[in-house]
Amino acid sequence: MINYKTYLIFLFGSLAVSIGLQMLLPWPFGLMAALAIFIVFPLFLRNRALKRMGGMGSDSGGGGFFGQSQGVKYICLACNNRFKGGICPRCGSKMKRADF
Ligand SMILES: [Zn+2]
Repeated sequence: MINYKTYLIFLFGSLAVSIGLQMLLPWPFGLMAALAIFIVFPLFLRNRALKRMGGMGSDSGGGGFFGQSQGVKYICLACNNRFKGGICPRCGSKMKRADF
């Protein structure tokens, strides 16, 4: 979904900018600005990629790398049932492990 080349350009670009910010701004403002860039850039790229797809796939649950965390399934340790949510619907056990 995200163009790999664009991502690398953004990554190195933001790296260069953040290094520049370390020199321009006193600690911890440079660090905070650099962190903000590293958080905002991926979000920006993701939003742009979603817009390019016309919203398709964004609500299907499988949004690639970013969507994985939303679709976590668990496997019940008591009865091996696969389920979503906190408690196993088959046996009511809370003992579970994440299934990726
Ligand atoms: Zn169970």
